[in-house]
Amino acid sequence: MAQLNIVFIASEATPLAKTGGLADVVGSLPHALKQLGHDVTIILPFYRQHLIKNNIQTQALPQTIEMWADHKQHLCPLHEAKVDGLRFALIEQDDLFDREGLYGPAGGAYDDNLLRFALFDRVALEAAATLNKRVDILHCHDWQTGLIPLLLKTQYQHYANIAKAKTVYTIHNLAYQGVFPADWIHRLGLPTHHFHPDGYEFYGQINCMKAGIESADMITTVSPTYAQEILTPEYGCNLEGFLKQHSQKLTGIVNGLDIDDWNPATDKTLAANFAAGKIAGKAKCKQALQQQAGLDIDAKVPLLTLISRLAEQKGIDLLLANATTWLERGYQLAILGSGESADEHALSKLAKAYPKQMYFFCGFDENLARQIYAAGDIFLMPSRFEPCGLGQLMAMRYGNIPVVRATGGLKDTVIDYNQVKSKSTGFHFEAASAQAFDVAVEQAISAFQTPTIWSRIRNRALNRDSSWQASAQTYADLYQTLLKPAPKKKVRKTTSRKTKPRK
Ligand code: ADP
Repeated sequence: MAQLNIVFIASEATPLAKTGGLADVVGSLPHALKQLGHDVTIILPFYRQHLIKNNIQTQALPQTIEMWADHKQHLCPLHEAKVDGLRFALIEQDDLFDREGLYGPAGGAYDDNLLRFALFDRVALEAAATLNKRVDILHCHDWQTGLIPLLLKTQYQHYANIAKAKTVYTIHNLAYQGVFPADWIHRLGLPTHHFHPDGYEFYGQINCMKAGIESADMITTVSPTYAQEILTPEYGCNLEGFLKQHSQKLTGIVNGLDIDDWNPATDKTLAANFAAGKIAGKAKCKQALQQQAGLDIDAKVPLLTLISRLAEQKGIDLLLANATTWLERGYQLAILGSGESADEHALSKLAKAYPKQMYFFCGFDENLARQIYAAGDIFLMPSRFEPCGLGQLMAMRYGNIPVVRATGGLKDTVIDYNQVKSKSTGFHFEAASAQAFDVAVEQAISAFQTPTIWSRIRNRALNRDSSWQASAQTYADLYQTLLKPAPKKKVRKTTSRKTKPRK
């Protein structure tokens, strides 16, 4: 298979800057593509504060790209970071990206997000044109890079190195579409002839995700079930009709994990390491978390866990509706998350009321996340929708059995105890109701209290192949398909038949 030059353009990637699963994917899929023999460069904004916090060493490159946007010239020096053998090109624009948040202050969005990411998209295209000899694939992710396929086709065809690149646009979450007032079209020089309902216009406004969907050569989303769901009014976020128009280029590929990084047998942040067949360390992790969190130290009490953005999508209301009942039944809860302040307050209040049973850490903390994945018995993911979800993959990898709503990638990656007992790695519930969630949790608790059943489920979860291997191959095949020259249309040879003169 020919080696491809692939450029990922995204707004976050581990270990440089992360708010959620997008960062995990953009930081790990390129490793798997490299292992298949391809060359991958990742272009990100230069988030100065995050790079410092995450100890990322960077080097200034000789190029500075000048860009006019919103009646102002922006100078954008380029930097490079080499992390675990991967090359990142970073676009500096401190006025726009040297901030505490990636997209906004806690729970909010910056007012100038369109300027930030439209400028980033343009500079990223120019950077891609200068960093690589010839780019085969430009792989863009979520609304922040949705304008790229459109800009490439309409305004960047004079850059020889990228002009022929094929674009892949991955929707990691359709709920965030990047919708902004139309006056930005002129302030940013966006192509006006695509501003109509079949283009990037959305009820009189700019919709960055529509630009990506319209113009990309291929659209992917992060699980086969979500790829189907987004064509329905329930999950389509008002784009189901538009997506249906483009469904011939839409496919769902389930996410993987960097299984070397997420490995309970070697993870240095844990109190003890463990693996399938060598499970003793997991009990130590549970004990260490109980101690650190001020919970009763008890190996037998079920420890329910949740690590999540606190947003409506994640079904935190379903958890809150059940939490007191579960605590009254004697279970423990360890929760890590931040987001909507009403949820933060409700969880803090509950943790204060049950200090020996409930721990809530409000914030974002990767090491603590690892410790909770490792310590927990049951991992809760009651999402209203979930494009893929990485939490449940990490939980299974750490022997923490997921109870999930049967939607999107949760349905595709967790095998339900009720459907195939002998292969199950967790528990599903269908209705987005507190009652259905409670029934599934009770089922998980009863399995937990039957050690022979529990150890079988846990072993299957620990042994699940959550690596990128299969999915990376699917992406690579898709790239190759896009690059295949279109078959030439056969021209039928026609022999000129002389019509006999009529008698
Ligand atoms: P989403 O991308 O919608 O937030 P995913 O399940 O796909 O959800 O990915 C979430 C990622 O973010 C996982 O790696 C999870 O461990 C991590 N994460 C979520 N909240 C926190 C937090 N408060 N602290 C540390 N990591 C978190």
